[in-house]
Amino acid sequence: MNNSIRLLLVEDNDADARIIQFHLKACSEIRVSVDHVGTLSDAIAATHDHGYDVLIVDMGLPDCSGLANVTRLREAAPTATIIVLTADDDDTDALEAIRHGAQEYLSKQRLRGPLLTRAIRHSITRQQHLLTAQSQAMTDALTGIGNRRAFEREMDRRIHEYQRHDVPFCLTIFDIDHFKKINDQWGHDVGDKTLRVLSESLYNEVRATDMVTRLGGEEFAVIFVATQLAEALKVSHRARAKIGERCGARIHDDMQLTISGGVAEVAPGDDLRTLINRADEALYVAKNSGRDRCLAHDGTLICGEISETCAT
Ligand SMILES: [Mg+2]
Repeated sequence: MNNSIRLLLVEDNDADARIIQFHLKACSEIRVSVDHVGTLSDAIAATHDHGYDVLIVDMGLPDCSGLANVTRLREAAPTATIIVLTADDDDTDALEAIRHGAQEYLSKQRLRGPLLTRAIRHSITRQQHLLTAQSQAMTDALTGIGNRRAFEREMDRRIHEYQRHDVPFCLTIFDIDHFKKINDQWGHDVGDKTLRVLSESLYNEVRATDMVTRLGGEEFAVIFVATQLAEALKVSHRARAKIGERCGARIHDDMQLTISGGVAEVAPGDDLRTLINRADEALYVAKNSGRDRCLAHDGTLICGEISETCAT
């Protein structure tokens, strides 16, 4: 375990805060650097400025109380370990706090140094296990990139951001051409290698801020963050061309690997399904007009380049 833990204590009662800080200083098993604030708003600001490993939060604060403390801190610091302090021995609220993302709760009356230290250590371990499990649930086992669940979560996040802050984004769905033939001709090991090489190549061809995921089978998605249709189509064209040039030979001597892609930009009124449908329609036309190409759906027309009058 990390032997220097950055901890934020959120406690409005100075006497309680001093007791907790005393216990933390006195313990020899873990090294903790402690910051102390007395309100939830200060705590949220502090988590934005500093990355804390652990947040110990009193359930009764002047500007917020009860469960809302946990849910709002969890939102502000999605990966931090949260430990709740309760003024009495009533477990009801505390158990609810755990259901809302806290790892542990401690009654102030029964707070002792060793108990506090042990609670911190165990909570950190539990939170790490949880984060690992969450990350595995979002990862495609074969390629190591995000899976369909990761894709849908990111799309929801992007659509929300578009609706609230007008940040555009695009989606390209790529599909390997004649993938069934690759499996039939060379076997499933080569098929699996093809999926791994393609995911790695796509990952290398897009920007670090864009997200590459495997939707299932031989279908991949790239979410182009803060990008409009013409730019997403350009990057998709380039990725497709590079993959066509380089990837086949990396997989098997005689292999010519090509992919097709369908691109769409988020528009007012879109949800996950409508945006995927437009990208899928463009992909369908790309497949049926010869493959090895990317086409964009501009909301009305499907075309290979974006100009004022979009034409195929
Ligand atoms: Mg209080």
